[in-house]
Amino acid sequence: MQRSGSGDNHASYKLGALTIASLRDGYVDMPPTRLRRAGNKQFGDDLPPQVRLVGGSLRLSVNAFAIDDGADVTLIDTGASNAWHPSMGRLPVALREAGIAVDRVGTVAFTHTHLDHIHGLILPDGEDAFPRLARLLVPKEEIGMFRAEARLERFHERAEAFEAGQRIGANIEALGAPGHEVGHTCFRITSHGETVLVWGDIVHVPSMQFEHPEITWEFDGDQEQARASRLRMMALAADNMYCVAGAHLDSPGVGRITRSGTGFRFDPL
Ligand SMILES: [Zn+2]
Repeated sequence: MQRSGSGDNHASYKLGALTIASLRDGYVDMPPTRLRRAGNKQFGDDLPPQVRLVGGSLRLSVNAFAIDDGADVTLIDTGASNAWHPSMGRLPVALREAGIAVDRVGTVAFTHTHLDHIHGLILPDGEDAFPRLARLLVPKEEIGMFRAEARLERFHERAEAFEAGQRIGANIEALGAPGHEVGHTCFRITSHGETVLVWGDIVHVPSMQFEHPEITWEFDGDQEQARASRLRMMALAADNMYCVAGAHLDSPGVGRITRSGTGFRFDPL
């Protein structure tokens, strides 16, 4: 996977015959108490110095990813639009910067249905963000959660459930990675022998969780399951030389992962 272009809000990469674009929706600041060790325990004064803070907070990038096969664009996650903090909602700017016309997005697939991933379907002015959207794919376990989002009401019936193990496109396979949320999914994208794992919320705090994948996140619905999924996906990527692309890795959030000591190491691309 090689970088082919970049700007303030995006980076583009070649993966075989595909172009993968990382799109920066923005960021969200969270208190470091959201990090959890075994037994769901917070850190206090013993927060490891490697954890990077901005004004006392963890700053999580919020990224979405576009897969362009030349004919059609599949978007994985859509950012928060104006449904959360104003530090998010830049997806339309990022798409423009990446040269992706919004009417080329035919498929949107969600890694899970938390608000920083789904609300970009609708622009702040209330218009549809993707006028030619043909398929809206939601993890089967989270269809009910998606349909509970009042702001997205006009999409409720258009949502189509997909299952772990399903191919959602010629080059894209859904891999179940539950824990952060019940239907949390990673997407394995392969072309000409190259693979990137677009892994959603496997990692929230990159300065900590590659080296210590056992550390969890307060908003992981099931801490034990999230820990197991993180270890499994990190091992899968490292042992098969897949690149990874993360929703909350520092923008652009794409890189290589290798085993290192008892944990892993991430090298951005
Ligand atoms: Zn998230």
